[in-house]
Amino acid sequence: MAEVQQGKVSLVGAGPGDPGLMTARALELISEADVIFYDRLIPPDALAGAREDAELIYVGKMPGTVHNPQEDINRRIVEAGREGRKVVRLKGGDPFIFGRGGEEAEELADAGIPFEVVPGVTAAIAVTATAGIPLTHREDSAGVAFVTGHRDGEADAGIDPDGSLALFPGTLAFYMGVKRLAENAADLISGGRPADQPAAAIERGATPHQRVVTATLGTIAETVEREGIRPPALIVIGDVVRHHEKLAWFKKRPLFGRTVVVTRARKQAGRLAAMLRGQGAEVIEMPVIESETIEASDPRIEEPFRQLREGAYDLVCFTSPNGVSAFFELIAGAGLDARVLAGATVAAIGPGTARTLRPRGIEPDLVPDRAVAEGLLERLESEALEGKRVLIPRAETARDVLPDGLESRGAEVTIMPLYRTVPVQPDDSVIKAAASADAMTFTSASTVSSLLAAVPGGLPGPVNVSMGPITSEALREAGLEVAIEAGSGSLEGLVNATAKVLS
Ligand code: SAH
Repeated sequence: MAEVQQGKVSLVGAGPGDPGLMTARALELISEADVIFYDRLIPPDALAGAREDAELIYVGKMPGTVHNPQEDINRRIVEAGREGRKVVRLKGGDPFIFGRGGEEAEELADAGIPFEVVPGVTAAIAVTATAGIPLTHREDSAGVAFVTGHRDGEADAGIDPDGSLALFPGTLAFYMGVKRLAENAADLISGGRPADQPAAAIERGATPHQRVVTATLGTIAETVEREGIRPPALIVIGDVVRHHEKLAWFKKRPLFGRTVVVTRARKQAGRLAAMLRGQGAEVIEMPVIESETIEASDPRIEEPFRQLREGAYDLVCFTSPNGVSAFFELIAGAGLDARVLAGATVAAIGPGTARTLRPRGIEPDLVPDRAVAEGLLERLESEALEGKRVLIPRAETARDVLPDGLESRGAEVTIMPLYRTVPVQPDDSVIKAAASADAMTFTSASTVSSLLAAVPGGLPGPVNVSMGPITSEALREAGLEVAIEAGSGSLEGLVNATAKVLS
């Protein structure tokens, strides 16, 4: 019986550049790897899920330089594999399509090192999908060929020495095809492919920078030259290109071509960033805050926690998703679970907080329409609060509207401060990129104050999109203009507002 291998090399495709097009298997392997060798054309943030102690090694080639020759890369991957480490070799697109993955796998096989190959979405598949060009089509194309636009060492023979490519009865998708486009197009025409056949060039496809130009086989080279199309770009030749105009869904998304800054804490930014990307935006993550957990031994936590376990509270009010996470971390740390809330009424300040409670087994009893403390107080108007004991697990500093309002109605309120929000100084390069963005999103008053601490006076370029009235107030107080405020206080509302203000 073969023994289970500890170390292994995984040749992993990272897809065409959109982090959303990485496979579940790729993300899993990245999160487990001891060492990751990666290329230039991998998606931004592709390595965000890597372990903190993982070794990340750039082995990309810069065009036209002799940086990192392939033999050198092969040798280093083999060495790492031999050390019994979990190695990921991460490549753009698919490892076996013009990625030299075949050669790397051969080296590993020769060295007797166990390996696996994880396919990725290859550029031709991905960028034609986003350009609205079906590679095959019942009426227009019975097949597709993936072809390289140039061959090392055989440049003089041209791409189609015997004319068979010209006569291929289907779509031709050229990788690395910009540089020799004029020669290749001329070869195909002299081989018998009609000069008036539709052709397209897709630059940086499946990314927020995607550009598509269309022409004919006879004119594509001059069009690409005139429009300044640069690698990475895919050239598509075939009748299927005529569908582009009708099916170009990608650039019709409301935020396509727009850049939006997300200022919330890195841990919480993911969902908002993904939602903005889903609408076509390029997202710059510039977290200006992070949250820091307060020790469970803090007396402000210890005593109320003891009382909670005794079932002393009638009502527990959660005022942010962060508060929910911190609360459940606290009870899990004590070996407890959602049952500590069994006897209490649970209120969530808004839909985001409610959504964070549900997977933990708590369906909130009360969620106000307006996601602010005032909204929650209104929602509680019909409840008898006199003499009731209320627990508010929340941030160390927060508005007093909710506790004051509850107390004025006779409730006995305990605040349990579970975390504090601390400012983070973004890198200068990120601030510089953010300065030329189209919009900047603020999800809380603390993102406003921390941004101003990081960048005095704020960034004049992007318009400010606010999550709700409290955040808007903080912006105005700081002398910053609020371009639009999310109606519902939810992330969906924030994304809609961003799309609206930038349309
Ligand atoms: N292994 C990769 C291809 C590497 S060769 C894959 O499977 O996709 C590099 C070529 O891929 C580029 O010259 C370009 O032709 C194509 N390519 C890669 N990413 C692209 C993108 N986002 N848009 C258009 N073409 C791309």
